[in-house]
Amino acid sequence: MAVMITNECINCGDCAPECPVAAILGESDEKNPYVGERFYVKVESCVECVGHADTPRCAQACPTEGSIVWDMPYTVDFEEYYMSGNESGKYKIREHKKKGLMLPSIKAQPFIQEIGMNLRESNANVAI
Ligand code: SF4
Ligand code: SF4
Repeated sequence: MAVMITNECINCGDCAPECPVAAILGESDEKNPYVGERFYVKVESCVECVGHADTPRCAQACPTEGSIVWDMPYTVDFEEYYMSGNESGKYKIREHKKKGLMLPSIKAQPFIQEIGMNLRESNANVAI
């Protein structure tokens, strides 16, 4: 992924229009595994704003501390992590008609190399 929206989200909607790759779903979107609860970042789409901005735009726009946190890179190293997260309902990875589940082995995404694994594993706040 990349980044993840937590249950601190207040559904203000400020993040979604800022995303350069339309990776953020609103709380009423049926594709959102947290429909009716909070916004959601599509892990298979988020590029951590690499090539678009120096830091994640969504987190810059978010008024609520702790709403947008780091998650693991969307790469084959974390294939199992995302697969099991998809099975548990934590994520809702897109099912492509021909390619199947869009796991990192089908399409990995860029990530910010400078962000330490400790920050990702602890789901540290993105905004600093
Ligand atoms: S980090 Fe960037 S690409 Fe990822 S959801 Fe936020 S705005 Fe979109
Ligand atoms: S900007 Fe933050 S609080 Fe507002 S919808 Fe997005 S994640 Fe939730």
